[in-house]
Amino acid sequence: MSKILITDALHENAVDILKAAGDVEVATGLSVEELKEKIKDADVLVIRSGTKATKEIIDASENLKVIARAGVGVDNVDINAATEKGIIVLNAPDASSISVAELLFGMMLSAVRNIPQATASLKRGEWDRKSFKGLEVYGKTLGIVGLGRIGQQVAKRAQAFGMQVVAYDPYIPEDVANSLGIDLMSVNDLCEASDFITLHVPLTPKTKHMIGKEQLELMKPNTIIMNCARGGLIDEEALYVALKDNKIRGAALDVFEQEPPKGNPLLELDNVIGTPHQGASTEEAQISAGTIVARQAIKILKGESAENVVNLPMLPSEKMNKIKPYMILAEKMGLMAIQLLDHTIDNIEITYLGDLATEKTEMIKRSFLRGILSPILLAGVNLVNAPVVAKNRNIKISEGTMKENQYGNALKIVAKGNNDEISIIGNIVDGEVVFRKINGYDIDVKPEGDLCVIRHIDRPGMVGKVGVLLGEYGINIAKMQVGRKEPGGHSIMILDVDHTISEDVMSKLKSMDNVRTAKMVTL
Ligand code: NAD
Repeated sequence: MSKILITDALHENAVDILKAAGDVEVATGLSVEELKEKIKDADVLVIRSGTKATKEIIDASENLKVIARAGVGVDNVDINAATEKGIIVLNAPDASSISVAELLFGMMLSAVRNIPQATASLKRGEWDRKSFKGLEVYGKTLGIVGLGRIGQQVAKRAQAFGMQVVAYDPYIPEDVANSLGIDLMSVNDLCEASDFITLHVPLTPKTKHMIGKEQLELMKPNTIIMNCARGGLIDEEALYVALKDNKIRGAALDVFEQEPPKGNPLLELDNVIGTPHQGASTEEAQISAGTIVARQAIKILKGESAENVVNLPMLPSEKMNKIKPYMILAEKMGLMAIQLLDHTIDNIEITYLGDLATEKTEMIKRSFLRGILSPILLAGVNLVNAPVVAKNRNIKISEGTMKENQYGNALKIVAKGNNDEISIIGNIVDGEVVFRKINGYDIDVKPEGDLCVIRHIDRPGMVGKVGVLLGEYGINIAKMQVGRKEPGGHSIMILDVDHTISEDVMSKLKSMDNVRTAKMVTL
């Protein structure tokens, strides 16, 4: 009988499901040494956020086949260590979407009808029927930033309330949004147009402080802004000023830049209501997270496939060893493509060159899809579900082969969307992944770390001017590559910099004469 070790509090329904499939031991609050001892003969480890499944713990296991995380985030699991040992990691990315969407509605109605303030007044023994006059949500516009799992659940509910829904999500194709009855627009237009604004994006370097002074100033005086996603999406200092000066009507916050938000001045304002990061705190979300992973863990023990597999452990084989560098190459190409295009991709062409044309290339394709999807989605894009996620986003994929070519075994991808496209050719040189061509320009770049990609017009002194500007701001260029098709024409410059370049310096680069575009990418 399989041994199933549960080391964080798990809902009893999930424990019962697991008991029917194996020998269950529930042991919470273990020290690292205790966990290393208990995991030795376990087949399945079930955790929530408390247990840290580090390399040390994973290496101590002798039979482990599955690590099941009952929830979304898998940052407490060393995925690489698990993958290397052939252990499957599972999670439940969808389990809390409805709970968060429902909390958002609670927040919206509470804020616009002053329910928390009125309750407090009533409990003080007052009967004040004038101070808490609110507004209807019917007929108003809700602006959703991030139209993923939760954003779409919020949209449905808003439409049932008779609200107009608009959204900002540069990675969702227009036809998908339109089929949901939602108009897509820029974040600034959304701020101008909306009576209520709600955020449902992951926190990334791109989304940090995406709602700042500029966006708050565009909002109408009656706007209520709501954040049930992650603290850090809104610049809290700018929000404080806007709320204190009554530039907007109110804010409803479930999440804060610092949690718990000790001494946060926002909480002193009457037009702010809040909850302590309660989005996923429902009986149903907890049951769902536990039972989803319990059922999937059992499927894997039976040798069946499961939907929410985060990694794809592949046992070493000659074939796999050959394909693996190209999987890494493909993922890097995907990461480069989405960061350079920085908007929806709806069409992908992949060409397998040289001997790759005769290999099984499915895993290479999946790796590329993971590359373009993982920077924009919160969790759960993996080699198993990447094709399904791509299909849900209406991404069309075509594949071709070309045996004879100048690069030998290589990969070419073309990614298109929004009347824009990027093409990359890459191969493996001395065991290392290298990009050989971008948009037709010959280059020779190792896709690693932070790269600054500048498209410019080939003019004397360009390289020097860029170097001087970065030098002024203390940015060290480790390597520089320039590619051009003909003298004086469009060219590309790729700088390998020691760390990411700030937005301020990037805008200075963008405004230089003869610079067409400048983008930072992290690979
Ligand atoms: P998701 O990955 O399904 O959707 C995210 C969406 O954001 C995608 O459609 C993506 O295209 C879009 N996006 C990515 N970058 C963007 C950008 N720069 N600008 C605009 N759109 C962008 O994620 P989800 O499951 O819907 O979760 C959304 C948020 O909710 C996450 O921040 C998550 O951490 C948070 N969350 C909070 C709680 C809570 O307790 N309050 C619980 C669960 C999830």
